[in-house]
Amino acid sequence: MSDADRPSVYGMLPAEVDTLVLEAGGERYRADQLLRAVYRDGIRGFEEARQLPAGLRERLAELATVTPAREVRRVVSEDGLTTKLLLAMTDGTLIETVLMQYPAEGGRHPRSTVCVSTQAGCAMGCVFCATGQMGFERNLRAAEIVAQVVTVAGLLRDRGEHVTNVVFMGMGEPLANYAETIRAVRILTDPRAFGLGQRHITISTVGVVRGIDRLAGEGLQVGLAISLHAPNDALRRRLVPTAGPHSVSELMAAARRYFVRTGRRVTFEYALIAGVNDSETTARELARLVRGTGAHVNLIPVNPTAGGFARPARRQVLAFERVLREAGVNCTVRVEKGTEISAACGQLRTDAAAPVVIGEAEARGPASGRGPGARPAGPSRAPSRSR
Ligand code: SF4
Repeated sequence: MSDADRPSVYGMLPAEVDTLVLEAGGERYRADQLLRAVYRDGIRGFEEARQLPAGLRERLAELATVTPAREVRRVVSEDGLTTKLLLAMTDGTLIETVLMQYPAEGGRHPRSTVCVSTQAGCAMGCVFCATGQMGFERNLRAAEIVAQVVTVAGLLRDRGEHVTNVVFMGMGEPLANYAETIRAVRILTDPRAFGLGQRHITISTVGVVRGIDRLAGEGLQVGLAISLHAPNDALRRRLVPTAGPHSVSELMAAARRYFVRTGRRVTFEYALIAGVNDSETTARELARLVRGTGAHVNLIPVNPTAGGFARPARRQVLAFERVLREAGVNCTVRVEKGTEISAACGQLRTDAAAPVVIGEAEARGPASGRGPGARPAGPSRAPSRSR
């Protein structure tokens, strides 16, 4: 059986790892040893799990895999804080993952955020997004989403650091790949598996209302970011052509329901595009929409992409922000990271229309590169994604 035919431990909940180990003839406590080897030690194959008896390792290898994503390319921003990885899945599918690091400041701890992709390409077609312009290839499995985080974790481990946050803001619409996204969240947050706190995870959606309501009922404490980009239906349908079925008012209602059920504040992502949605009149319309909801607005001056959209002048961004603040809306202007390496919001794509390379590491195989990735929001998503 090839690697692709056997299930990956990265896609298994701990209870399923228990079953796997029992099936392989091991005792239950061996599952805990295996999980620690996978997520704490970063093994790249069962043969590296030396805590386990040789016979058990061999039997496990017949039943399953520990297949890390293969690092094809690594690009690092000039300041060293953003790292974009081009990763190959076991079937050769290419996706991008971004690591964004934020030094300690203003009393905040330093953060190492991984921005993961949930799909290869994206079907949502947002006009300003490089990923959307690639089209849709396929959904990623939970194991492939977890493998991105594990890869980044390995890279950080080599420096004595660790992943502090994960944002589902990379390539693709997470709620259009709902089951695999939620499974990945549960694996990443299970104390027996990756063990990240639920509040350290944010899922970004371009506005799949049914998915938002399902997510609200999962009993999870993950953050929700909705890529709004426009305060009215006509403008939003221009920017997010697939938004058709969901009106802005339906999205606002879904955001309210999410807040009521989870107690988690919702963030609205707003890509500011020069001459399109950045006027003070539009800001006032946005303020009327959001005021009083308790939501946070994250303004993202759009990044250069193949869509030909321009970033507004700094004074226009500040004027837009001022209108929101004066109306009592909680808002920030996203600090863009990785723009020069095309790792920023809306810039992720895997084709050869490659970004400017500021620093490029030698492509590493699974053995050397385990570890990082991320940007807050893929095309929409944090610094890096495109929504
Ligand atoms: S912005 Fe997000 S949802 Fe829109 S096309 Fe890009 S990846 Fe897909």
